[in-house]
Amino acid sequence: MHEMAITQSVIDAVCEYAEGRRVYAVTVEVGALCAVVPEAMRFCFEVAAEDTVAEGADLILVEIPGVAACRTCGAEFRLADPILLCSCGSADVDIRSGRELRIRSMEVSESCAQPVDAATTPPR
Ligand SMILES: [Zn+2]
Repeated sequence: MHEMAITQSVIDAVCEYAEGRRVYAVTVEVGALCAVVPEAMRFCFEVAAEDTVAEGADLILVEIPGVAACRTCGAEFRLADPILLCSCGSADVDIRSGRELRIRSMEVSESCAQPVDAATTPPR
């Protein structure tokens, strides 16, 4: 189950950018080729968020379809699974999308999540 490792890194990043603010929701883009099970990821998110500023936050998963382009015949096609094979028989394909796994946005207790302000130092 690699969802736990993925979710843990998402939580780590979220907590870093939240800078102590409460996190209400996190939107994560997940490529279809990442083989992530949404239910498993939601469960892991809940567990990993415990005792952090993201505890109880909503996890919104946006699935990005897999698209590949064949270097042999030039065809562009949808990938439903990580098996990379063009209908022309070539496995020399270029993945255009579907491997994304990134945080698109998050909702925190203040209206905007500004990047780190050089003047602020975290308490403690
Ligand atoms: Zn082809």
